[in-house]
Amino acid sequence: MSDTNLPFDTAFLDRLADVAIGTGLNLQPGQQLVLTGSAETLPLVRRIAAAAYKAGASLVTPILSDEEITRARYLHGHDVTFDAAAGWLYQGMGQAYDANAARLHVSSENPMALSDMDPAKVGRAAKANAIAYKPAIEKISSFAINWSIVSYPGRAWAQLVFPDLDADAAQAALAKALFAASRVDVADPVAAWADHNAALATRRDWLNDQRFDALHFRGSGTDLTVGLAEGHLWSGGAAEAKNGITCNPNIPTEEVFTTPHATRVNGTARASKPLSHQGSLIEDIEVLFEDGRITRASATRGEDVFKKLIETDEGAAHLGEVALVPHASPISQSGLLFYNTLYDENAACHIALGQCYEECLSDADGISPEDLKARGGNTSLIHVDWMIGSAETKIDGIRENGDRVPVFRDGNWAS
Ligand code: ZN
Ligand code: ZN
Repeated sequence: MSDTNLPFDTAFLDRLADVAIGTGLNLQPGQQLVLTGSAETLPLVRRIAAAAYKAGASLVTPILSDEEITRARYLHGHDVTFDAAAGWLYQGMGQAYDANAARLHVSSENPMALSDMDPAKVGRAAKANAIAYKPAIEKISSFAINWSIVSYPGRAWAQLVFPDLDADAAQAALAKALFAASRVDVADPVAAWADHNAALATRRDWLNDQRFDALHFRGSGTDLTVGLAEGHLWSGGAAEAKNGITCNPNIPTEEVFTTPHATRVNGTARASKPLSHQGSLIEDIEVLFEDGRITRASATRGEDVFKKLIETDEGAAHLGEVALVPHASPISQSGLLFYNTLYDENAACHIALGQCYEECLSDADGISPEDLKARGGNTSLIHVDWMIGSAETKIDGIRENGDRVPVFRDGNWAS
C-alpha cells in the first residue's frame, strides 16, 4: 500500500487528484465530500482528500470496500442472507447529498472479481443493493449535486487488460493509459480539460439545434432506430448540477448523450465490445427491440447474467440513454479493452438499459413519474451502458418529416 512500492510515477496521482477536485467535482469551499473506492485506491484517495481540504472542503468521509471481503461473502455467506443490503448507509448518503455534500467515486474494480461465484447469489445481492441504493442514487441520476468518477490503476484490473505483462509492468501500463485518457499527462491538465469541454459543448449544441426525432444506427451487426424522448436535451462534458455547481461527472469523458424514447426503439443491436458487469464478463450481446422493449436476447458468454439483468424490473429491458462517441476518441485509438464501462463506453457509441437522466430532458425539474413516462423517459433500478459503436458505425438523424441528416460516417462525426 505504501506509495514507494508503486511501479509508476506518483506525481500523476497528485495531478489526477487536482483534476478530480477542480474539474471533476469543482468542489466548493464549505462542501462536504463523500469519497468511495476500494482499499487498494488509498494512494489516490489520500491525495484527493488532501486536494479537497485545500479547496476548502468542510469534511471528507472516505468509505472503502475490499475485494477479498466481498468475495468472502459469496464464499461463506449463508444462502438466506443474499437479499441483505446496507440500506442505512445509502439513506445516510442520501441525507448527505440533501445537505449538499459532493460525491466522488474512485474506480479500480477487478471486472472478474465475482466471475467464479454463484450467479444466483450475485444477482440477488445486486438487486437488493440496487433497491437499498435508491435514496442515494436518485440524487445522482437527477443530478441534484456535483459528482464525479475517476479511476485508479488497480493491480488485478491491470493484469486483465495486459495479460502478457508481469504484475508490476501491467500496473505501470494501465497507469499510463489511465493518466493519458484522463488528460493528466500534459503540462496543464486543467487547461486541457477546458479545451476538451469546449469541443464537447460544440457537438452538444449542434445536436440540440437539430431536434432529431430519432437516430438510425447501422454497422457491425446493428440496425437500430432509437426514437428520442419528447423535449430531449443532449449533454456532454461539463454540466451544471441542480445545486448550481458545474462539474464533469466522468473523468475521462468523450460522449455526448441524451434520453431515448422508452417505447420507440426498434431493430437489432449487437455489442461491439464485451460488457463487464458486477464481476462478470458478458460477450457478444445481441438483442432485438420491439416498441422499445427487448424481446430477444443472447450472448456467447454471461448470457444468464445478462438475462437476469434485463429482468431486474420492467424498465431494465428498455433504454434510458443513447450516447455518441467517435471512433477517433483517444480511448478508442489506444486499442485497449479496459473491461471497465467508464473507459470502454468512452471508446464507442453506446446505449444504456434502465434509468434515464432527467437532466437530458427540458423542463424536467420535479417532473411526475407519469409525465416522465409520457415523454418517453425510462425508470429502472439499473443503468447499464453497453457499446455498439465501431469503425463501421453509420448514424443518420431523422427529422419528424422523415428527412435524414448524416451524423456519423465510418465511426466518426460526419462533419
Ligand atoms: Zn454514457
Ligand atoms: Zn450511461
